[in-house]
Amino acid sequence: MFSSHYLYFLKHNILTRFGGKSIPLLASYKITHHCNLKCRTCPFWKINSAAPTYHEVLKNMQQLWQDGIRLIIFEGGEPFLWRDGAYCLEDIIIEAKKYFFCTGITTNGTLPINTAADTVWISLDGLAETHNLNRGDTFDRIIQNISDSQHSNLLVNITINRLNIEEIPDLVRFLTGKVKGITIQFYYPFPGTEDLGGAASARIAILDQLIKLKRQGFPLLNSLSTLEGLKKNRWRCHPWLIGSVEPTGEITYGCYLQNRAEIACAKCGFAAHTELSKAYDWHFASILAGKKIFKFRWY
Ligand code: SF4
Repeated sequence: MFSSHYLYFLKHNILTRFGGKSIPLLASYKITHHCNLKCRTCPFWKINSAAPTYHEVLKNMQQLWQDGIRLIIFEGGEPFLWRDGAYCLEDIIIEAKKYFFCTGITTNGTLPINTAADTVWISLDGLAETHNLNRGDTFDRIIQNISDSQHSNLLVNITINRLNIEEIPDLVRFLTGKVKGITIQFYYPFPGTEDLGGAASARIAILDQLIKLKRQGFPLLNSLSTLEGLKKNRWRCHPWLIGSVEPTGEITYGCYLQNRAEIACAKCGFAAHTELSKAYDWHFASILAGKKIFKFRWY
């Protein structure tokens, strides 16, 4: 017998495929724009907005759950900086675990990584020099925080851009054994940072190298199907599977870029969207990737 998670996904697939409904599954909750870094590649720390209160977050989570969301990832800004009086992110995670199949956090890794969230992604942009060029002098502190953390599902997410593309294979080798797994995505050229997008030929070349590393056993968690699909963006996107919540509490369903930047699918490198869309379309490798990333059991 499959676990209740998989039974839900099966029911979801049947209802959306044959019942004419678009039910979302995964939401990223931008709980604050506030951040302790000023990364060159990030447009969000520049936005001066109020963060939601604890009770506003709870209300939003209830809404997300009612809408169909079962996987939730908190991001920012830096989500570990979120506070409402005595409440901190961990209070939100404890509540979120009551509703959702999986809770995740995406962090810049500069603060101690102690949390009950099921999955934690730490963003790294290259080896020390390249990473520090984008994020300030933080690389060593992040690696120390990774080593100090007791969390059982620490992942690194690498956003590949023109500046770091050459050293991604070395970064994968460097991280092997330090974290549970590595996911990649490609930089989306937000307005003002178009120069950071890579050339199409370089993208294909790095994906070929990553496919080779994955086949050799390096802990890249993106499926081979997704890595192949990203080469020329030959995959079918189901953007309605994704929800986004702004610090204002506004919930939107659809592409991550909606209300943030021009939606240019040809330039898309959001590997998480690729994987989720492929899993929805029954690509077994993507289902397995999701199982590993979110630590689901079959039964
Ligand atoms: S930009 Fe990417 S995630 Fe957004 S709708 Fe296009 S393919 Fe999907």
